Amino acid sequence: MAQKVSGPRGTQDVSPYESYKWLLLEKKLREVVDQYGFKEIRTPTFEHTELFLRGVGDTTDIVNKEMYTFEDKGKRSITLRPEGTASTVRSVLEKGILNEGLPLKAYYILSCFRYEKPQAGRLREFHQLGIELFGARDYTADAEVIAVAAKILRDLGLDNVKLYINSIGCPNCRPAYHDKLKAYFAGHKDQLCEDCKNRLEKNPLRILDCKEEKCARIAKDAPVGLDNLCDECKEHFEGLQRTLQAMGIEYQINTKIVRGLDYYTKTVFEFVYDGIGAQGTVCGGGRYDGLFEELGGNHTPAVGFGMGIERLLLTLEAEGKSLGEDSRPDIFFAGIGEQAKIFAFAMAEKARSEGLKAQSDLMNRSLKAQMKYADKIGARYTVVLGDDEMQSKKAVAKNMQTKEQLSLDLSQPVRNQLI
Ligand code: ATP
Ligand code: MG
Repeated sequence: MAQKVSGPRGTQDVSPYESYKWLLLEKKLREVVDQYGFKEIRTPTFEHTELFLRGVGDTTDIVNKEMYTFEDKGKRSITLRPEGTASTVRSVLEKGILNEGLPLKAYYILSCFRYEKPQAGRLREFHQLGIELFGARDYTADAEVIAVAAKILRDLGLDNVKLYINSIGCPNCRPAYHDKLKAYFAGHKDQLCEDCKNRLEKNPLRILDCKEEKCARIAKDAPVGLDNLCDECKEHFEGLQRTLQAMGIEYQINTKIVRGLDYYTKTVFEFVYDGIGAQGTVCGGGRYDGLFEELGGNHTPAVGFGMGIERLLLTLEAEGKSLGEDSRPDIFFAGIGEQAKIFAFAMAEKARSEGLKAQSDLMNRSLKAQMKYADKIGARYTVVLGDDEMQSKKAVAKNMQTKEQLSLDLSQPVRNQLI
């Protein structure tokens, strides 16, 4: 036998018996974002590498270590998207969609690619729901974006996922804060991890976010960003909190949340679940007023989030929450003999034309085995068809749960005759 080929490390298959969980979750996600008026945007799986170099930033882990970049046959540098925001902004700018009116509310559900060390909740291909709100500088926009994530989690019954918020300032107040941070961490340089030694010059804010314990210990006493905000950022953060309170959304301030991406300004937030280990950040987002200009557009305020679908599914499982069951056939037509087999197919097709979910035997099974199969796939009704039924156009439908029997007139619509 030829050797089997395995799937690439860090990728996951969703089997036909599990995919309903994804479908139910995606349906719920689409329902909630629609309630807030977000419309789906679709962008390509790969982009010019330059988009992410400029749009995600060359001091981030994503750009430094995690991108799937390759040269195509036309010698262009191409990258599989590591996230959805840069592509969304690129598309909106390219198509001039902002001219249609503001705010623009867009969402996407898509796969992202990052070369990371695979572990539970950390994959090389993973999926995100992302929402982006463009054009509104007001703190109510930040509150609305946070509210979408909070509503999703609430509707899924995930009350143990906690919301943490912070503000990382703006180009007015951040440089001075950066300098303070740099000075503080420079005093502890020897004790920082190699990555953080590099971050010290380029992006000291990110040291606050480092997952190494020794760095976290030093970061504990670092100058706090919230104490160093300009008046505008301070008022924005206070307005956000007043709006969240008015909407009944619980939160905690966490001054260590900075997000990995450079284009963030003011609000940053995370939804974290403690029950799935180190990969507990189910959703992360914030405001990124600087990104449009970075990508060649006019200054455009923007706020959004990315929610990891695999992490959501892990959280649902850890919390014992289910979104429902897989769909089942309404009716299974069993056939006895060659003629009735084909008649069963005709009846199943008729039932489908009435909108029912119908199946019949493809395996030439015995009647007993057909009934066993119908039971296994959870058919609500079974109908056995033989020569008599074909001639009389009368048959019996058996309710598989109650075992009740119904007479069916096969010349009439089937659907109306089922209870
Ligand atoms: P982390 O700190 O866990 O690496 P991140 O800051 O890189 O997360 P974002 O870029 O903000 O994450 O992506 C948004 C969300 O996407 C995360 O909160 C998480 O739920 C999910 N996510 C990110 N990377 C992965 C991955 N490699 N595998 C699965 N989900 C991921
Ligand atoms: Mg990451």
